[in-house]
Amino acid sequence: MTDDIFEKILTGEVPAEVVYEDDLTFAFLDINPNNPGHTLVISKKHFLNIFDVDIDTFSAVMRTVHALAPVIKKAVDADGVNIHMNNDPGAGQVVPHLHVHIIPRHEGDGFTLWHGKPYEEGVGAETAAKIRAGLV
Ligand code: 5GP
Repeated sequence: MTDDIFEKILTGEVPAEVVYEDDLTFAFLDINPNNPGHTLVISKKHFLNIFDVDIDTFSAVMRTVHALAPVIKKAVDADGVNIHMNNDPGAGQVVPHLHVHIIPRHEGDGFTLWHGKPYEEGVGAETAAKIRAGLV
C-alpha cells in the first residue's frame, strides 16, 4: 500500500516515536497530536479498519490500548483520555491502516466532542430495530 504511511513506520522507512510493540501490535506518537502523548495503536498486519479486521487482531489492538492508556495518562499527567477510531473516509479516516487513537485530555484543554441531537419521534425505535435486524 503506497499510501499507507503506517506501513513505512512499521518497517522503519519513516521514523516515529515508538512507545510499544508486540507480535501483533505497534504503537507510536501521533505526529500532529491533539495533546502531547497522543498515541496511535496499529495492527502489524495490514487491515483497513474495523470493517475488515478479524476479531483476534482487533482484540490484540484493544489489549494494547488497554495497557497503554493508564501509562500514557500518568506519563503526561492527564486528567483523562479519549479512545477514538475513524473508520472509512466518511468518518474522517485519512490513513488506510487500522489504528486506534489514545488522546490524553486535560481539564479546560478546549477540545469539544461532537454535539448530540435528540431523535425525532419514533426514529430511535426504528433505528434500533434496524440494528437488531442486522444482527440476525
Ligand atoms: P485518521 O484520521 O486516519 O484516524 O488519523 C491519522 C493520524 O495519523 C492523524 O492524527 C495524523 O496526525 C497521524 N499521522 C499521519 N501521518 C503521520 C506520520 O507520518 N507519522 C505519525 N507519527 N503520525 C502520522
